[in-house]
Order: sequence, then structure tokens, then C-alpha cells
Amino acid sequence: MTLEERIQDVNKRIEEACLRSGRSAKDVHIVAVTKYVSTAMTAKVLDSGLEHVGENRWQNAEGKWNELGQRGTWHFIGHLQTNKVKDVIGKFEYIHSLDRMSLAKELEKSAAAKGLVIKTFLQINISGEDSKYGLAPEHAANFLREIQGFNHIKVVGLMTMAPIEDRAEDTRMVFRGLRELRDTLNLQGMTKEPLTELSMGMSNDFEVAVEEGATWIRLGSVLVGKEEEE
Ligand SMILES: *Cc1c(COP(=O)(O)O)cnc(C)c1O
Repeated sequence: MTLEERIQDVNKRIEEACLRSGRSAKDVHIVAVTKYVSTAMTAKVLDSGLEHVGENRWQNAEGKWNELGQRGTWHFIGHLQTNKVKDVIGKFEYIHSLDRMSLAKELEKSAAAKGLVIKTFLQINISGEDSKYGLAPEHAANFLREIQGFNHIKVVGLMTMAPIEDRAEDTRMVFRGLRELRDTLNLQGMTKEPLTELSMGMSNDFEVAVEEGATWIRLGSVLVGKEEEE
């Protein structure tokens, strides 16, 4: 399939998932994950009209950003080491992986120095797998309370990664858990403005995530594809 065909196919699947769950497809945004592909392919992704691109490591993103960073909106979706904050700050409008206080402090400091407000998702380990990054759900409220005074970080919502399952349906409880946590935090009033966003769903499981309320889905292989060499 060509990129255009994959985009059409994904959009159709999003629309169908929205129909099944009574949602509007306008509320579902796609982050095109370009980590498996070259700068040239990333340029094609932006040419195709996809606005949001996602990368999970600065080492892989640097060349692409240097060439294409003035186009599109860049999302940092991978685990972010504290010593890499200086590289990504001001380049990535969204950080999907805020998962610890040391990172919050570094982001706040760097964003303040540049006079920026950086949009973040709190990454939550809903499934509880040891291999996954993210705050335990029961720590999220406290975390948000502790960063209430951080004026250069705006938490827009929550992010999670579901376990790899043979049947996508088996991820549903993870996505539902993230939505319910967001709703609970909003009832507790842990942020100045309500958390509206849910970053959840990847190539294998995005339809279930959309049915459960995803507002950002992060799609690599199913949308952008994979290339052998950079
Ligand atoms: C790679 C990656 C994705 C996209 O993965 P696909 O399964 O190829 O869609 C989404 N989110 C994160 C955090 C990733 O690292």
C-alpha cells in the first residue's frame, strides 16, 4: 500500500470505531510516528497533510528535525532522559512521557529559561507491567498536586501504552482505566484546567483505544510503515 492508501485506510478505521462508540472522528488526532523511517519519508508524511509527527529518541529524530523541524508539530513520545531535555526543549511541542518528578523539574527549568510552556501528557502505567515506564495510577493525583506551581509545564492529559496482545480486544481495560483515571483526576480538581486529552492506541490496538476515548493515537507501522535502512 502507498502512504495515501494507508492514510485512507486508517481514517476509515477511525471513523468506524467512532461510529461504534458514538464519538466524532474530529476529536481523534493522529501522531504519525516516523521513528522507523528516513528523513525523506518523514517529508512525505508532512506533504501528505499529516500535521503531527512523533519520535521516541532524540538520536533518531535529530537529523529529521534539523531538516523538517519548521514544518508540522513535533511530539516526543518515548522515554525522556533528564539529560536530553536540553535537546528537545523548544523543538517538540508535546512531550507524551512525563513520568517522574526529576523530569518535571528539568522540563520546568528548561522551559522557563526559554520562556516556553511545554505541553505534556502524564504517562501512566495502567497495566502494571514491570517493563513499562509510567507513574502508578495511584500516584498521579499527588504528582499533579506537586507540580501545580510549575508554570512552564501544562499537563493536557494522560498517556499509556497497552501490553502487546494477540487480540486487540484484550487491551480494552487498559484504555478504559486511563480514561477513568482522567475523569477521577478531573473530579478531584488536580489541575487548573481539566485534563482533556488521552494519548493511547498504536498500530495494533488503536481502534479499541478510540472506542475507549483516545484523543491522540500514535501510529507507526500501520500508517507510516517501516523502512529497512535510514
Ligand atoms: C513506536 C511507538 C509507537 C508506534 O508504534 P506502532 O506499533 O508502530 O504504531 C507509539 N508510541 C510509542 C511510545 C512508540 O515508541
